Amino acid sequence: MIRKIYKFGGASVKDADAVRNLKQIVENHKNEDILLVVSAMGKMTNAFEKVLADFRANDGQLGWGAMCPIMEFHEKIITDLFEPDKIDAVIEKVTMLLIELYEKLQDTHKAYDYQYDQTVCYGELISTTIIAAYLNESGIPTRWLDARQYVITDDTFRSANPDWNETRLRIQKLDAEHIRGLVCLTQGFIGSTNGGKHATTLGREGSDFTAAIFANCLDAEEVTIWKDVDGLLNADPKRFKETVKIPHISYSEAIELAFYGASIIHPKTIKPLQNKNIRLNVQSFVHPDMEPSVIDGNPSPITHHPSSITHHIVKDNQTLVSISPRDFSFMNEHNLKTVFEVCDELRIHANMMQTSALMLSLCFDHDDAKREALMESLGKMFSIKYNENLQLYTIRHYEEGQEKAFIAGRKIYLEQRSRATAQFVIENA
Ligand code: ASP
Ligand code: MG
Repeated sequence: MIRKIYKFGGASVKDADAVRNLKQIVENHKNEDILLVVSAMGKMTNAFEKVLADFRANDGQLGWGAMCPIMEFHEKIITDLFEPDKIDAVIEKVTMLLIELYEKLQDTHKAYDYQYDQTVCYGELISTTIIAAYLNESGIPTRWLDARQYVITDDTFRSANPDWNETRLRIQKLDAEHIRGLVCLTQGFIGSTNGGKHATTLGREGSDFTAAIFANCLDAEEVTIWKDVDGLLNADPKRFKETVKIPHISYSEAIELAFYGASIIHPKTIKPLQNKNIRLNVQSFVHPDMEPSVIDGNPSPITHHPSSITHHIVKDNQTLVSISPRDFSFMNEHNLKTVFEVCDELRIHANMMQTSALMLSLCFDHDDAKREALMESLGKMFSIKYNENLQLYTIRHYEEGQEKAFIAGRKIYLEQRSRATAQFVIENA
């Protein structure tokens, strides 16, 4: 039986040293029946997005050259990792995958979202191919699994939803065949629809969700997300000077934090774990001996009560739209219904909203196509203004005045305070 899921994100496999570090961690736990869920290396998902954009812009006329930066990136890691006589075989495997993609891409007439998933899945396919070969070479018997055969989803490309029954069946079958001591390794982020025919993805940064899906279907003991920070921090150390490590929080607090945009975990990750009461560890891959932060069903112990620690969460690249009925009617339930129906249809997710007598303000992640479609659909009945390139700053367990240091002199477009949370839409720094 597979008991533990280890998730390694792009930063934890961004170069050869990082992969060697992963190997060391796996070496120390290889007899614990673990399944590794691994993302694309470094920023490779972005690189694949760019390849697709170039192909589409050139109507498929682009040459193999478009693949070069991706090939070179992986080649460098492979050359650094493997013994000279093993290098060619691994490079060949990666080349084959890229050729497969290149051939698929020639048909650029398919819908963008569909083609996106068929393309970016290669980031994970390549990273896991390299890492499985490396672990096996290093004397850690590893079984490579194609996540597309296990995570079965609907056909909402770029944001697919698991078909839990089918996924559970397949994962449980896998578990029944599991051989003690063998390390399993699969891709995060990707799945497939239609009997495994078409790749799907679970949304950017979706590898955490993959780990949770496997954990739920396996009734696993725990999931560990290996990160480049010491655990769960109360703020992003890249933005805030003084951060505090949080030893423990409850599932519900974690959902709140993820909802507001804390980048620790993908928002969909918690529910499948909570439903089976599976502990989630957030652990440093730089200092693997350090105690992890733990997210589970227990209320936080008094000494570490989350309300005693304020969380600061910043979401970049926000668009703020203000919507007012043209006929000067109130922003009443009827008008709200009209607006939210369109939002639902366009899959616009409001990160923050506020109503006044004549206006509804919505703040969401920048997306020109969605914003234009919203204005197009509602333009007859509503006058719509918008601002872009804003930040949404959320303070959880807020105390008066705590926002001042971060906002310092910047324009506040919108603010809202509830008992536990304060939010500010502000001008970019
Ligand atoms: N590689 C995917 C991304 O960069 C998924 C992940 O990293 O979780 O979005
Ligand atoms: Mg990532």
